[in-house]
Amino acid sequence: MATILLEVATPDKGEVYAKEINMLITRSICGELGILPKHANLLTELVPHAMRIKEGGGETKLFVSGGFMEVTPEKITILADAAEAPDDIDVERAKAAYKRAEERLAKKDSEIDIDRAEAALARAKARLLVKGVPIP
Ligand code: ATP
Repeated sequence: MATILLEVATPDKGEVYAKEINMLITRSICGELGILPKHANLLTELVPHAMRIKEGGGETKLFVSGGFMEVTPEKITILADAAEAPDDIDVERAKAAYKRAEERLAKKDSEIDIDRAEAALARAKARLLVKGVPIP
């Protein structure tokens, strides 16, 4: 089966993932994208989500917060603000972040930065999804 190299790096951790894969299902600011080997050149911005990586007949998930993705026919390069494999996700921390963001959004207070709270909620949700933990 044809493959394409997926590399994911963050400013804090450097390389988080580097492997030949069969398909990547990811979410950009323009919607969901399925990237197969020999994909056309593309540069786009990602939103926080649980990426789905298909390789060797299986599927794994990887959390990415916002970032940029460059695709060429042979390689997908993602530079994310943060990225975590399931084993690296602290579930209690993600649940606490989720609760904090929900409480902020429920306050309907003009002091609340809604965009910031919604982004924090989206990151926490995506982390819990990668971990397979039901959203509270
Ligand atoms: P928190 O409010 O808990 O810091 P956050 O969504 O604001 O969550 P980020 O800004 O996305 O956190 O990430 C900051 C750093 O902390 C990154 O290095 C990221 O990988 C790490 N990180 C954040 N949440 C978790 C988590 N639940 N498990 C493991 N690492 C995490």
